[in-house]
Amino acid sequence: MSEDLVKIDNAVIPFRIEGAAVRGEIVRLNSAIDDVLKNHNYPKPIAKLVAKAVVLTSLLGSSIKFKGRLIIQTQTNGPLNMLVVDYHTDGNYKNAGKFRASARFDDDKVNALDELSDANLLGAGQMIITIDQGENMQDYQGIVALDNIDLEAAAELYFGKSAQMLTQVRLAANINADSQQWTAGGLMVQSVAAEGGTNTSLNEIELKEIQLSDWENARALMKTIKDFELTDPKNDAQNLLFQLFHEKGVRCYQPQELEAFCQCSDARIEDMLSQFGQEERVEMAQNNPNKPGFIHVDCDFCGKQYEFTAEYFEQ
Ligand SMILES: [Zn+2]
Repeated sequence: MSEDLVKIDNAVIPFRIEGAAVRGEIVRLNSAIDDVLKNHNYPKPIAKLVAKAVVLTSLLGSSIKFKGRLIIQTQTNGPLNMLVVDYHTDGNYKNAGKFRASARFDDDKVNALDELSDANLLGAGQMIITIDQGENMQDYQGIVALDNIDLEAAAELYFGKSAQMLTQVRLAANINADSQQWTAGGLMVQSVAAEGGTNTSLNEIELKEIQLSDWENARALMKTIKDFELTDPKNDAQNLLFQLFHEKGVRCYQPQELEAFCQCSDARIEDMLSQFGQEERVEMAQNNPNKPGFIHVDCDFCGKQYEFTAEYFEQ
């Protein structure tokens, strides 16, 4: 444990349990997740699930070592029928990873639920994870079937399928009752090959046994984590790691900062509207109940509002 610890907010920190075949990442989001959620007027259960999806996307996206994007999208038949989180990185851990999120849901269906679990909010469908690897590379896409499971279980299935890696994920989000500010956090551990340390005489079977036993220990510790510990602003991410894995010790690597962002602009909205026919645009402007004559567009991600007249496109 190093002594020059600084409190790290809005960041993901990769780590390794000392002398064990387990690696991981921890994420803590304070103002960055609040920035995303305050732009949307989501009911609390929806906001909470969106926050957890942002944490998961950050856990996955931060391992991208090139300029690219990672997108998690769910398409399901539950009250929250679509959720998109978009993570951008320039591949340099010194620069912040950036994310934005958007959700579509049915308020009445949310209110009708007896139990507001992730699984019930999502329902059945699929989660699609896309990695955009830049211009000259093909996108990677992984699909996980969602059938009454939560995001943690979906992430574990994804890693099992795509990387054949034993993975365990914890995600949590919380709104402070007084300040009404959101915080979110997550922890992921993965089983990696055992190296045997100084004991080079170990054979393959013995190394496998070590790997498995390290993994079982890490899993048992993961089970002890309470949701509030993952989001507690008074106990930062590194401290939580040291508390959890103090027996063996934990080595933290360079953290990567995380921040909320959006890509929308006048030019992008104009481009989107130019895809419609002029008649459709005239109709959109006429049917605007709040300001007839103007086409009104809200950005699904940041909530910024745009207005155009149909005549604007008449050239
Ligand atoms: Zn926007």
